[in-house]
Amino acid sequence: GTFTHEFATELYNGTVTVNTGLFVNGQFVDSVDRESIDVINPLDGSVITKVSIGNAKDIDIAVKAARAAFKSSWGLKVPGSERGKLLYKLAELLEKNADAVAAIEALDTGKLFTLARNPDVQGAINDLRYYAGWADKNHGQTIETTEAKFAYTRHEPIGVVGAIVPWNFPLTLTIWKVAPALATGNTVVLKPSEMTPLSALKLAELVKEAGFPDGVLNVVTGYGATAGQAITEHPLVGKVSFTGSIIVGRKVLETSSKTNLKRVTLELGGKSAVLIFDDADFEQTVKWVCSTVFYHSGQVCAAGTRIFVQEGIYERFLQAFADATAALKLGDNFETATQQGPIVSQTQLDRVLGYIESGKQEGARIVTGGSRAEGSGYFVRPTIFADVKPDMKIVREEIFGPVGVVARFKTEEEALEAANDTQYGLSSYVFTTNVSRAIRVSNALEAGSCFINQTVIPSSQVPFGGYKQSGHGRELGEYALEAFTQVKAVHVNL
Ligand code: NAD
Repeated sequence: GTFTHEFATELYNGTVTVNTGLFVNGQFVDSVDRESIDVINPLDGSVITKVSIGNAKDIDIAVKAARAAFKSSWGLKVPGSERGKLLYKLAELLEKNADAVAAIEALDTGKLFTLARNPDVQGAINDLRYYAGWADKNHGQTIETTEAKFAYTRHEPIGVVGAIVPWNFPLTLTIWKVAPALATGNTVVLKPSEMTPLSALKLAELVKEAGFPDGVLNVVTGYGATAGQAITEHPLVGKVSFTGSIIVGRKVLETSSKTNLKRVTLELGGKSAVLIFDDADFEQTVKWVCSTVFYHSGQVCAAGTRIFVQEGIYERFLQAFADATAALKLGDNFETATQQGPIVSQTQLDRVLGYIESGKQEGARIVTGGSRAEGSGYFVRPTIFADVKPDMKIVREEIFGPVGVVARFKTEEEALEAANDTQYGLSSYVFTTNVSRAIRVSNALEAGSCFINQTVIPSSQVPFGGYKQSGHGRELGEYALEAFTQVKAVHVNL
């Protein structure tokens, strides 16, 4: 290749800039092979800019820089309070640049600007502050064994963490990894999705401005099969924190086990169940369900896409749900009146339309939507299938688009059996005004999260992750500290 990137590209009518090189050892640099990839705007298919494409050689350079930084200027060399200070500073800079970062994220992903600003950027600021607070509080224990002996534990960082992130919540999911990893003293090599690399590059600029030592955070943009794979193969990477599909998650685990047995956290897909009982608050439930299925065009791992409705309100709910869905306004993701933007890419558009076609062929009843929407962008009309059967492909597989499937149930037992009949276990939703039932049902659901009478709302303090094939380990909350530390027991003989 002959590409030399512009170190600062103007975006969004020239009001925002982003550096488009790799960020390695505190500098923006060209990739070794000087290759590039177009970054596409999903709203109209136009090219936003080009970014460098890193491969195994670039990953090797970045990992070595991260390893050197871990040993010389981070890890056990820097007290937690200092790491916390830098994370607070980063949060402050992100707050100062919040509109610019949200614009970059919206441009790159097609998500609504208003949602990119809050919850995405706002959530990232909150998460940074939450883990900044933990940086000097992640202590071990003192354990007395006999009169003359005791032991104490230390929560030590693992070393170099590889963070691999998908395209649906690029900044959010990056911060879920980077904030606890840095707070606990690890250094990071981050690989964003090849489809949505821009907010990670903006974050790198802010990391530099905040004054983190060189090499503490490195960003290598590139493809999964080359740059991503190289992270999972690298012997100096001690931990991989991966968010993405089951198929790639399996590969990450396999490669890690074949190389140096890296620790692996996997946040994978979902096909989350929604249980709506006859006694639910009807109007609110329609709104909550609409949001859990169609938020960000359904490109949400925790989306509640398998909807089970008790027979007493089945037809009435279906009607109200269909009306609310049909009223969703599709359009320009920077317009404040827009309620649904485009799908992220042509590939995803084709995939989602393929599932809609399969639903039709399997005989599910389309209640609303069911086709591509007019216009040049990658728009799919929000779609509801009713009277679906348990073995249909649209019931079993994650579609990752604005498609919900609805079936009826009679009893609580029947609802639970249907809800748990899946390889996934990321999230779940229960709508009922009966408190005992809400708790009983949430206990019986095989999922890492259960939202009672609300749509999915992650919070810095609350762990997030999957049961079954939705993943290994947890992000967020105190639990994420464990994911990025190892315990040393020191035995002392007095
Ligand atoms: P994906 O698995 O295709 O890619 C995810 C990331 O992995 C990308 O950065 C990609 O470049 C990289 N990658 C691809 N092949 C690789 C390899 N061989 N080795 C290492 N890295 C590789 O997923 P996607 O299409 O970007 O995202 C959609 C999926 O992510 C959905 O299944 C969704 O449910 C899941 N997801 C899960 C969560 C969660 O928290 N559980 C959150 C968001 C998305």
